[in-house]
Amino acid sequence: ATPTAVMVATGKGASLGVLIKGGNALEKAHKVKAIVFDKTGTLTVGKPEVVSVMLFSSMSMEEFCDVAIAAEANSEHPIAKAFLEHARKLRQKIESNNQHLTEARDFEVHPGTGVSGKVGDKMVLVGNKRLMQSYNVTVGPDIESYISENEQLARTCVLVAIDGEVAGAFAVTDPVKPEAQHVISYLRSMGISSIMVTGDNWATAAAIAKEVGIEHVFAETDPVGKADRIKEFQMKGLTVAMVGDGINDSPALVAADVGMAIGAGTDVAIEAADVVLIKSNLEDVVTAIDLSRKTIARIW
Ligand code: ADP
Ligand code: MG
Repeated sequence: ATPTAVMVATGKGASLGVLIKGGNALEKAHKVKAIVFDKTGTLTVGKPEVVSVMLFSSMSMEEFCDVAIAAEANSEHPIAKAFLEHARKLRQKIESNNQHLTEARDFEVHPGTGVSGKVGDKMVLVGNKRLMQSYNVTVGPDIESYISENEQLARTCVLVAIDGEVAGAFAVTDPVKPEAQHVISYLRSMGISSIMVTGDNWATAAAIAKEVGIEHVFAETDPVGKADRIKEFQMKGLTVAMVGDGINDSPALVAADVGMAIGAGTDVAIEAADVVLIKSNLEDVVTAIDLSRKTIARIW
């Protein structure tokens, strides 16, 4: 493409809310044959809501909420924010004993699995089954069935372990973006296949994929694993785009031929990407490819 064509396309993109950083992405986007989508915050709205809280111990709901709130207090994860909002409301409804809400000490983030910390003299873990397994916390059959019930409904389950035992759990729902399904089918009509890659569990991932019409799913994938998937497709000779919003998507955004960040996503993802979808609308994935096609075809 000529520098003028690139300039026109970039300007056109900007006016449409598609920020294109440089000519390279414009040169490549029209050749894209596969698009890898992150799930949370990319295909889904990314504002999870707590729909269920369950106790698996003799602990009171009040005490449970206090401990879990303290453990998640310093987490930036959308699930943590959803839980804090819900638990604080729940906590207000319960007769308050004016206990002081604390923050965890030795707070640690475990990317893709959850958080850990000490609340008072208690060792607390908040996260998925893999986090529990890595700390040798047993997940009993009653907890397993709570998890699978929720996962089949496309919800994500979070377990809270206190001193090595699962004390309770909560489930969050994160609806798919309204445009997701028709964008996936439109891409298919363009000869582009869509793939989902997520850190979330297989059952939830499969349920969401079905909702939006994606057939190829890779779940329980860490940030490096996401990038590895991209490289596998590239080794088959495919030009690959990645669409993501999280810190955990940045290696994949860099690895992709065309990295597209959701505008509402994290700064790290936006920096790693070649294209920023300012409106966070998935239809603009098509807009970006279209701008590239027109640039190469010298429409301008
Ligand atoms: P995605 O790839 O879908 O954006 P992440 O890699 O951010 O997902 O997280 C994967 C999973 O790790 C979540 O679905 C959740 O089960 C767990 N997790 C991560 N951080 C937290 C947290 N702060 N609190 C609870 N669970 C968490
Ligand atoms: Mg995400």
